[in-house]
Amino acid sequence: MRTKFIAGNWKLNPVDGQQARDLCRQLKARLAPFSKTMIAVCPPFVGLGMVNEAFRDTNIAVGAQNLYWEETGAFTGEISAPMIKSAGCTYVIIGHSERRQYFGETNETVRLRTQAALKADLLPIVCVGETLNERESGVLKEVVSEQIREGLRGFSEAEISKVVVAYEPVWAIGTGKTASPAQAQEMHQYIRELLAEVFSQSIADKMLILYGGSVKPENATDLLSQADIDGALVGGASLKADSFAGIVSSAEELI
Ligand code: PEP
Repeated sequence: MRTKFIAGNWKLNPVDGQQARDLCRQLKARLAPFSKTMIAVCPPFVGLGMVNEAFRDTNIAVGAQNLYWEETGAFTGEISAPMIKSAGCTYVIIGHSERRQYFGETNETVRLRTQAALKADLLPIVCVGETLNERESGVLKEVVSEQIREGLRGFSEAEISKVVVAYEPVWAIGTGKTASPAQAQEMHQYIRELLAEVFSQSIADKMLILYGGSVKPENATDLLSQADIDGALVGGASLKADSFAGIVSSAEELI
């Protein structure tokens, strides 16, 4: 059986360093009882050092929310994979829909970032998902297929086995609207079949596919108990220790 993985995406929060330190302290206390679930939090870049320090000697891993594919050089304002690695991170989120929507992320830049992450020994969490318009016009599977085929093009089996996929329907992110467990399971199963076709069945069987989109303690068990849902990428609910711990607790009970 695949394990469960709950990752928190703090996005552009919190603004204040003290609030971030308080959240880490609360998370450390609330998450201490859970030892089976894989857990990660992904703060903004400026918090990576502090958060890695706060979670040292715990089972809470840390990830960044983005990276640039060049390692060093004249790229003002960018952060590279080796920098994220040297800050102590294990993971990096790549291709989040907010990056695709507001910052020009494409399937090709997702591929470049994923390649850079793997080269630096970071584990990429690659996000895919359709907009409401794409779902309503019936092209959701085509959209997700293209995101996976192009974003993960050319990776070896050894490389792809380090990638975590997050299915995040754009219409469910930060909106309070959640895909029903059946809708989410249908897409997760589709993604796993696609991974089997593009890579191999044994790779697809082992890969973790997270669901993201307004996951909270109240809906976590129903979503996480679906056969192909291996965890959650959590935005809003990851900013409160109680709600994030509630989701981890649901995962823990299903392992
Ligand atoms: C996300 O940021 O990836 C996300 C799913 O956000 P939320 O849980 O707030 O919908």
